[in-house]
Amino acid sequence: MRSAGLATGVLLASSRIALAGPKTGIVEFALREAATSEVTLHPLRQGVSLLENAGGNILVLPGPDGKVLIDAGLAPSQARIKQALAGIGTDPLKHLINTHWHFDHTGGNPWVGAEGATIVAHENTRKRMAKATRVEDWGFTFPPAEKLALPTVLVSQHRVMNLNAATIRLEHYPPAHTDTDLSVHFEEADIFHTGDIWWNGDYPFLDYSTGGSIDGTIRAARATLAKVGANTIIVPGHGPIGDRSHLSEFIAVLTEIREKIAAMKKRGMQLGEVVAAKPTASHDAKWANFLINGDLFAKLVYEGV
Ligand SMILES: [Zn+2]
Repeated sequence: MRSAGLATGVLLASSRIALAGPKTGIVEFALREAATSEVTLHPLRQGVSLLENAGGNILVLPGPDGKVLIDAGLAPSQARIKQALAGIGTDPLKHLINTHWHFDHTGGNPWVGAEGATIVAHENTRKRMAKATRVEDWGFTFPPAEKLALPTVLVSQHRVMNLNAATIRLEHYPPAHTDTDLSVHFEEADIFHTGDIWWNGDYPFLDYSTGGSIDGTIRAARATLAKVGANTIIVPGHGPIGDRSHLSEFIAVLTEIREKIAAMKKRGMQLGEVVAAKPTASHDAKWANFLINGDLFAKLVYEGV
C-alpha cells in the first residue's frame, strides 16, 4: 500500500544510505521525501481510517467528539494530511495520541496543537521532546519542540479514552523501540496500532539513544502477539497493515538475526567483522527495502547483544 513514488525513492536512496555508514542521513531523507509524497487514506473498520505516506502510519476516527488522530506524521506532510482529513468530514481535530516521540510521528504536533487539539502521549515523550535530543544512529540532534507541540495529557502505564463511541485503550510498552512507546487499541473495531515496535516487512530502527533495544523490541512484539486476536487489524509504525502471521514473521526474523549476531559477538567478533559477515543476508531481499539496510540493522542488533 506504500505509494509507488515513495517506494521508488526509497530504493534509489537506500544505496546512498548504505554508503553513508553510521551517519545515515535518514532524518534528512525522510523529510525530503515527505515534501512530495502523496498522502493516501484507506477506510479500515467502524469509521477508523489509515493515512499512509506521511511518515509513520496514522489512524483517524472522526465523530461528534472531534477527529481523533493516532500520530501526526512528518512536518512537511502537513498540507497533505489536512487535505486527507478534510475528505472525511468537517469535525474539528480535537485529540492526538502520539505512539512515541520520533519526528516521523510527532512532526505534525505543532500544527495539530495550533488547531486546538489535546495531545496525549507517554510521559517520556514529553520529556524527550521538551529538550534537545540526539539520536546517535541517525547522526541527528532534534531541537526542543515548541510548547504547542508538547503532549499535555501524559500516560505512565495505561489509559482508556471513550471518544466517538469507541473505547480506545493506550498501553505503555516497557522500553522497546524507545522508552516512550504506547500501543493504541480501538477495541470495538479491533484495530491495534503498535507504533514503531513493529515495522511490517522492514527491518526496524532501534533507538538506543532514547531507551530502545533489539531485546526490548522483540519482547514488545511478543507481548503484542499475545494480546491480538485472529481478526485484529494490526497497524505497524511503518509498512502495510497486517495480522498475526505478519507480526509472527517479524518476531521470527528479528529473533534469528539477534541470536546469530549475539553468538558472533560472544566469539569476540568486532562490529566491523560482524557487519562484513552479512549476518542478515538471507533476509535482506525481503526486509531491507525501506530505511534500514542489512548493514545498519546488523550494527543496531550488535549494539544491544
Ligand atoms: Zn520511531
